[in-house]
Amino acid sequence: MNFIENLLKNNSHVHIHNDKLAYVEQTIRSLISDGRKMLHIVADFDYTLTMYEKDGVILPSTFAVIESNDGVKLPDGSLLRVQADQLRSYYQPIEYDVCMNIDEKIPLMIEWWRKAQALLLSSNLNQSIIRALVYQSKLELKNGVKKFITELLRSKIPILVFSAGLGNVIEIFLEKEIPEFTLNHELSQIISNFIQYDTNGNLVAFSKKLIHSFNKNEHEIHDTPYFKSILNRSNVILLGDTLGDVDMIAGMKNLKRILKIGFLNRSTPAKLEVYKSAYDIVLCDDQTFDIPHLILKAI
Ligand SMILES: [Mg+2]
Repeated sequence: MNFIENLLKNNSHVHIHNDKLAYVEQTIRSLISDGRKMLHIVADFDYTLTMYEKDGVILPSTFAVIESNDGVKLPDGSLLRVQADQLRSYYQPIEYDVCMNIDEKIPLMIEWWRKAQALLLSSNLNQSIIRALVYQSKLELKNGVKKFITELLRSKIPILVFSAGLGNVIEIFLEKEIPEFTLNHELSQIISNFIQYDTNGNLVAFSKKLIHSFNKNEHEIHDTPYFKSILNRSNVILLGDTLGDVDMIAGMKNLKRILKIGFLNRSTPAKLEVYKSAYDIVLCDDQTFDIPHLILKAI
């Protein structure tokens, strides 16, 4: 029996478009025969590496870790959370709408990110509060992510975490959960929106290039030590949870084999159809990293 037949037979939440079955089988066979030395990984952070829900409760995104805390206030004394929630309830349905054209979404996403960033910059936050909020947060890695990333690093397989969330939160969280990730600069890289601090730890600005849900295709990694480590690796496994995540590799040259794995949260038959077109393998409501790990182990 071939790899894909086996995968589908044993996992009812795994879906592959009928038209892609042969492609996915061939891609996985090539990843296996080319081996780990040719492979690198590109992963989104929020709800890809982290859990979307646990025991029926939706867990926070990197932005929500900071925004939802009642200690975070605006200059007039009001809670930042109230305004952040208003923004989210207006813009998030647009972000998740699988019928709306991405070109129509982009200006609205930029508007949302800029407003959300402006709220954070005007708040009473500072570097040490942000650190404390990450440590107190309910952010949680999917089951098996730590094992997956540790195995990547031990096999010297580079991993790029590419996020439209808050880079500072990702950095602190990964430093706490997977110290090997942070220590390994040549094999690990985070591209995200970073808050810049002054010498007293006050928030000054955000990194210049805004990353929102739908412009992950525009970013360059050429000036980093990480870039050297993927130069001769033509195979990639991409992991994401939104439709914009499939573009994370659009700026990379010379890729030969690409396997796109998508996590679909709150799946519906209509959303599944769209995800099956965008991704090679779709995992419905899966809070584990069992399937990516199963594929990695075969390589
Ligand atoms: Mg995500």
